Amino acid sequence: MKLRIVVDPDLCIGAASCVTIAPETFQLNVENKAEVLDHGVQEGEPSYERTIECTESEKDAIILGAQSCPTLAITIFDEAGAQLYPEV
Ligand code: SF4
Repeated sequence: MKLRIVVDPDLCIGAASCVTIAPETFQLNVENKAEVLDHGVQEGEPSYERTIECTESEKDAIILGAQSCPTLAITIFDEAGAQLYPEV
């Protein structure tokens, strides 16, 4: 499956709980904002938004990481564009 992962850098306060829970997906940059990785790799330009292919268990870890964010800076969409987190 594919997920689109979006971090709002204006909301991110660098708390790094997403990085602790899902280090293959989130990484703090020099501005202490979480960027999105693809399985630990930053393909192309650093980005606050990325669509990645993942397994069901990887999806669970990514959503747990998003749920850990104290400022709800992370939004997750499925490949059809439906928002998975935060739940709407
Ligand atoms: S948990 Fe939220 S505030 Fe903390 S680094 Fe991740 S996106 Fe930023």
